[in-house]
Amino acid sequence: MKDRYDVIVVGAGPAGSTAARFAASGGASVLVLEKDRDVGYPVRCGEAVSHEGVVQFIEPDPRWIAATVSRFRIVSPNGKSIAPRLDGTAYVLERRIFDYELAKLAVREGAEIVTKAYVYDLLRDGEDVVGVWAVVKDEKVEIRSKIVVGADGVESRVGKWGGIDTTTSIHDMESCAQLTLSGIEVEQGILDFYFGEHVAPGGYVWVFPKGKDSANVGIGISVDQAKEKSAVQYLEEFVQKKYPNAGILTRIAGGVPCAKTCDKIVKNNIVLVGDAAHQVNPTSGGGIISGMIGGMIAGQVIGETISKSDIAHLKEYADRWHKRLGWRHEVFYGIKEAISAFSDETLNKICEDGLKLPEEKRTVGGIFRTALWNQPSLLLDVAKVFFS
Ligand SMILES: Cc1cc2nc3c(=O)[nH]c(=O)nc-3n(C[C@H](O)[C@H](O)[C@H](O)COP(=O)(O)OP(=O)(O)OC[C@H]3O[C@@H](n4cnc5c(N)ncnc54)[C@H](O)[C@@H]3O)c2cc1C
Repeated sequence: MKDRYDVIVVGAGPAGSTAARFAASGGASVLVLEKDRDVGYPVRCGEAVSHEGVVQFIEPDPRWIAATVSRFRIVSPNGKSIAPRLDGTAYVLERRIFDYELAKLAVREGAEIVTKAYVYDLLRDGEDVVGVWAVVKDEKVEIRSKIVVGADGVESRVGKWGGIDTTTSIHDMESCAQLTLSGIEVEQGILDFYFGEHVAPGGYVWVFPKGKDSANVGIGISVDQAKEKSAVQYLEEFVQKKYPNAGILTRIAGGVPCAKTCDKIVKNNIVLVGDAAHQVNPTSGGGIISGMIGGMIAGQVIGETISKSDIAHLKEYADRWHKRLGWRHEVFYGIKEAISAFSDETLNKICEDGLKLPEEKRTVGGIFRTALWNQPSLLLDVAKVFFS
């Protein structure tokens, strides 16, 4: 490790490794600092991603694919279910290998990665940020850089240190918990989502198959819904009922910022990517691919910035992100607000109406259109969210 780089990336998650990869391929000298001993571990994720999303960055490889799925199913509060047609494939990953491979792609482009390297502050020269302070293998060190990338996940501190407001309201922060179960019967090739006031108020429970008799079974509910009863309690009740004899291989809990992208994702020479920048899809809570897209755009702009020697060019990252995904996340945020307010009766009715459609018309759009047609009052609920 040198004492000076063009760019220091804090965090070797999917967003950080991808930012490092593209910045390095653009000609910047890049150091990635990861606080954990291993890249990709511990895993705090349901691990579902679309094929379309993944192939933008890496060729699918059976070593990090635990299951391939081609359908998803929505289970409504009364237990009826509908599996809308899905054009495409999704994967349940082995993230500890997937994240590792993303880091290797960054190294292949010339980035250096150091693990057991905890960044605890920004290094300043007067008002200017000129690098980071870190504890690397138990030793305090200062490392200089022209640009610092905060890819330090949902609990990001780089942004706050750099004067960027990264707070998430408790309404938008999803409280998540997940158990990886084994010894259970789980249908292959399908992702299940359970809705309902008693199952996951304002959110959902997911069952994602991970091989023959295993699955990631998790829950996400808004933190303000979890005040009376925690996400963990809801999840344990669900598992007790549905999989009473399961073996529990892992237990995790964590937060997901289901919000719009932070107002600022660049300030002077500080750049935020991934969960740190709130680049999660607010409807699904999925942030792997969108964080990688944020990382890629940031990395490309950083490469250009270094070759032009013009820090002001970094602002381009915020514009390109907004054009590519940021504006869509604003729409998805509205959809999340509408769906999370649906009553059990509404969810049951949507499912029942959808089941009346001929199979070839059971797409997400088809089901939604039928729901609006049969329950025009839904239009008002949705409109309230978009126009308030
Ligand atoms: C229970 C749960 C289920 C989820 N399921 C899905 C899903 O199925 N599909 C999906 O797409 N998304 C899912 N997500 C969201 C997804 O996990 C995140 O959006 C994604 O990991 C974000 O990537 P990232 O690189 O921004 O951050 P992270 O993956 O969180 O990586 C941040 C890295 O920064 C490191 N770090 C933090 N602070 C420091 C520091 N000070 N110094 C050095 N290193 C530091 C951390 O150790 C970590 O390695 C889920 C999240 C949760 C909690």
